[in-house]
Amino acid sequence: MTSEVKPPMKRFQCMACGNIIEVPYGMPKPLQCPRCGAPHHMIHRVDRGRGRRGWGRGRGRGGGGPPWAEKSSGE
Ligand SMILES: [Zn+2]
Repeated sequence: MTSEVKPPMKRFQCMACGNIIEVPYGMPKPLQCPRCGAPHHMIHRVDRGRGRRGWGRGRGRGGGGPPWAEKSSGE
């Protein structure tokens, strides 16, 4: 009983500005960030399936944030 109303979307995040870009399945990864114009290598896939493991369990380190969130110091 899943009420699927909207089509599945792939989610990407721009590592430069943090913008979330949603792209429907079947569409290619965006070539650049529509917000800041960062090139494609700055855009990473962020939908579930990958970071799922560490998120639920590894809480207590920072605040339960996604891995890319705590990696913003330094560069
Ligand atoms: Zn951007």
